[in-house]
Amino acid sequence: MPIYIYGCAHCGSELTVSHSMVEIMEDCEVCEVSGSLTRRPSIFSSVKKKPEQKQKVGDHVKSFIEEAKQDLNQQKDDLEKKNDWNIIRSIHFN
Ligand SMILES: [Zn+2]
Repeated sequence: MPIYIYGCAHCGSELTVSHSMVEIMEDCEVCEVSGSLTRRPSIFSSVKKKPEQKQKVGDHVKSFIEEAKQDLNQQKDDLEKKNDWNIIRSIHFN
């Protein structure tokens, strides 16, 4: 399973968790505030891919984080749609 890094907006903790791609962790295990976690992109792998662009690494990481945020929102939407479908199907078949 892929490993994700989450940052807590409440206590500033950084959590490294492994879960499947469709799952999203939102609750902080350290301060137990729900919905405080934001998934962070794996900066290390993106830097390794293009080591020659050292000057714009900061900008690259910034846009990468923005993309990751949008990706996260998209995943949330997808997850909600899937849940809706599961509800509809369970009503239909029961
Ligand atoms: Zn926390």
